[in-house]
Amino acid sequence: MKYDYLIVGAGSAGSVMANRLSENPNTRVALLEAGPSDDSLFIRMPVGIILMMRSNARNWRFYTVPQRALNNREIYIPRGKTLGGSSAVNAMVYTRGHKWDYDHWASLGNDGWGWDDVLPLFKRSQHQERGESEFHGTGGKLNVADLRYSHPVSNAFVNAAVEAGHPAADDFNNDVQEGVGLFQVTQKDGERCGVARGYLHPALARENLDVFTEALAHRILFDGDRAVGVQANIKGHMRTIEAGEVILCGGAINSPQLLQLSGIGPAGELRKHGIDCVADLPGVGSNLQDHPDALVVHKSLRKDTLNLAPGALLKTGTKGMWDFFYRRQGQLTSNVAEAGGFIKSRPEEQIPDLQLHLTAARLDNHGLNTLFSMGYGYSGHVCILRPKSRGSVRLSSADPAAAPLIDPNFLVEEEDMETMVRGVKAMRDIMKQDALAPWRGDEIFPGRAAKTDDDIRNFLREKCDNIYHPVGTCKMGVDDMAVVSPDGLSVHGLEGLRVVDASIMPTLIGGNTNAPTVMIAEKAADMILGR
Ligand SMILES: Cc1cc2nc3c(=O)[nH]c(=O)nc-3n(C[C@H](O)[C@H](O)[C@H](O)COP(=O)(O)OP(=O)(O)OC[C@H]3O[C@@H](n4cnc5c(N)ncnc54)[C@H](O)[C@@H]3O)c2cc1C
Repeated sequence: MKYDYLIVGAGSAGSVMANRLSENPNTRVALLEAGPSDDSLFIRMPVGIILMMRSNARNWRFYTVPQRALNNREIYIPRGKTLGGSSAVNAMVYTRGHKWDYDHWASLGNDGWGWDDVLPLFKRSQHQERGESEFHGTGGKLNVADLRYSHPVSNAFVNAAVEAGHPAADDFNNDVQEGVGLFQVTQKDGERCGVARGYLHPALARENLDVFTEALAHRILFDGDRAVGVQANIKGHMRTIEAGEVILCGGAINSPQLLQLSGIGPAGELRKHGIDCVADLPGVGSNLQDHPDALVVHKSLRKDTLNLAPGALLKTGTKGMWDFFYRRQGQLTSNVAEAGGFIKSRPEEQIPDLQLHLTAARLDNHGLNTLFSMGYGYSGHVCILRPKSRGSVRLSSADPAAAPLIDPNFLVEEEDMETMVRGVKAMRDIMKQDALAPWRGDEIFPGRAAKTDDDIRNFLREKCDNIYHPVGTCKMGVDDMAVVSPDGLSVHGLEGLRVVDASIMPTLIGGNTNAPTVMIAEKAADMILGR
């Protein structure tokens, strides 16, 4: 099997690459995906995210190593494992980060990645249902829609935030970003429009694109310094696939893992596992950044929030199914994180440093604590947008099927802890406003007893979690720790090998990471095709 391009990973970035690179019918493209197809009602139906969070078949279900600043807890790291990758299991929130983030990337030496450079790519990749504007495009493959349903408590949360003094916002993707409102979502006609639906499905009929599912790449093959293919386990059989170029799109956890399995990474680490070093690149697997997230959870006096008790589910489910299956409307079109926004934790911040998401349900441990969710309530997420803590993804063994050691070092930096403390206080301030009075029952987390900053620090050590945006582990740049080049995302020192996914972000952007990953892939396709 010989191809012009071999793409590893059919996630957000891989789906874009497969579409763009196979547009020319004379170019042969192969796409390998470790997971199965994305033919699942629970992917199409937005509220299915609740089930995808616990899927064994289509979710890698990783855990971190014990987090030293979080009482040595191991934190759940869900990642999509199917066509569409994490965009098949994500909350569909469409945000891009702040223009500052991209100008910051450019200031680090990444020419061509400033806001003015990337805005046209964000616009090109979307179809904004509200129409075209200075910040939005139409005709792109990623459908961006207003929510068809929002729970009354989500709307009340927005009003409460305004009562608390935050501006209202109805677009987080302009050059202001600050404010609280309802998110726009990557949905079409009331169904998830993940990157597979937007980019990959329309390309599947092309004869020059071969898609292999249940195909786990084990290692990249080299001829000297040139990548020439991949060895993969495809449905239980070891296969060698040759290609002119190998493009890794495995995401921020798996791409650095596959590079290290293939002998590309810090030489000392590779030696520990008996792996011959092809390129000593210390940055591979370093610089892991993610958004730490904490929940302020209240009981609800009104018995109308999402409740996983069988009786309550039956009641909401029956109406929900009618609305969804006959009209693609109603509660089952909810992305579960309907309201939120971007605020400053203190007035002297130049740009928002916190993101909020509101869930109309009682959440504990990513909703995996089912018993806890069998009660009425609502949960306010608060995450810090630009954490200072840095972590790593290292091999646990030379076995490609073994999960890597994921260490985000959540809240290890004192500054991150202090920003989170301010964030929890800001969320509590919103939760106590009049607009939420009809729902407001007791505060479960942090709980009435948590009064002082020290109490909140203890709460964070015990409960702080993450909101699924790992990046940075194959960062682009020009310094010693950079893994790929800004002008082509080629792996430094090697030929025929690129990384194109969230791992190339040098710093975490201030927002959800799907749209930025799609933008990265659109830009990479342009660079590869010389456009
Ligand atoms: C639960 C959850 C909720 C989220 N919510 C939002 C949100 O609301 N909005 C938002 O913007 N972002 C959200 N995100 C983040 C966003 O979805 C990701 O940042 C984005 O999808 C990352 O894209 P990627 O291409 O880097 O990786 P992925 O989309 O994760 O793709 C990687 C793909 O590579 C495959 N793969 C990995 N290793 C191999 C291998 N060795 N061989 C073959 N295939 C391999 C994987 O199975 C996967 O399909 C969320 C993420 C999660 C997990």
